[in-house]
Amino acid sequence: MDNKTIRLAIQSKGRLNEDSLRLLKDAGIDVDDAKRKFLGKAADFPLEVLYLRDDDIPGVVEDGAADIGIVGFNEVAETGAQVEILRKLGFGKCRISLAIPKAVDYTGLDWFQGKSIATSYPSVLQGFLSRRGISAEIRVIKGSVEIAPAAGIADAIFDVVSSGGTLVSNGLREVEIVLESEAVLIVRKDLPAGKKSLLDSILFRFDAIGESRGKKYILMNIPNDRLSEAFALLPSMRSPTVMPLAAHGWSSVHSVVSEKSLWETVERLKAIGAEGILILNVDKVID
Ligand code: ATP
Ligand code: MG
Repeated sequence: MDNKTIRLAIQSKGRLNEDSLRLLKDAGIDVDDAKRKFLGKAADFPLEVLYLRDDDIPGVVEDGAADIGIVGFNEVAETGAQVEILRKLGFGKCRISLAIPKAVDYTGLDWFQGKSIATSYPSVLQGFLSRRGISAEIRVIKGSVEIAPAAGIADAIFDVVSSGGTLVSNGLREVEIVLESEAVLIVRKDLPAGKKSLLDSILFRFDAIGESRGKKYILMNIPNDRLSEAFALLPSMRSPTVMPLAAHGWSSVHSVVSEKSLWETVERLKAIGAEGILILNVDKVID
């Protein structure tokens, strides 16, 4: 690996694979999704992709075998790898929680005193229990942790939860959220100086995509005498763009609005006489 190429580790298959590849694609970095390949190359950016199991990504970045990586924060926490977290990426959101059989009467954390807990995250769990003064037996299981209580393997589990559906279908109830997680971009300590500008360029592109998330482009026609009311409803990057329409007394107003307040804003705009409202997706935002 030379200093003119940056090497990125991503999950080879699994929950983060697709979103990681999509983020790269949106950033104009096209890599082949060769599932059986170990190392890929981007066509239009000096970047190599190392496809790995997610557990291995933090360590490989720590060792410098990859320069950067995309992985769940939960894996960074569990491995304790000495890497720097550069960005939260907004996908792969989940939490690691303690869950117990739903019929059990839960009295608080003390319930776990002396119990056995099945998990794939022994280090995060041990840290949490020690901080809270609970001593419990940790049973490490690599997969299907959620079946442990029913199978008589453990009293409780400590596992990744997103919707909670898996817990419910296994007769379990989430009682303590210990760690909130999402995919993060990590970088090795002491990234060679020659690769810094490549990393900056990737960050610039990722940030433009992150900024665009949750934003919509809105345009509409407004009678000129209602323009000041429209401006009050449309906080924009600088201020809304206004263009006169050929029809006398009307203007076209363009702005960027947050998706959260989109429908409320649209209703208010209609109430002040806006017509022909168009709402478009925003791909990238560069401030
Ligand atoms: P690998 O084969 O790479 O080791 P895995 O089976 O350990 O894969 P996945 O199930 O693909 O891992 O999950 C990868 C990451 O996705 C998790 O570490 C977590 O950060 C995130 N994630 C988001 N939602 C969930 C969920 N409901 N269950 C598990 N992981 C989730
Ligand atoms: Mg894994």
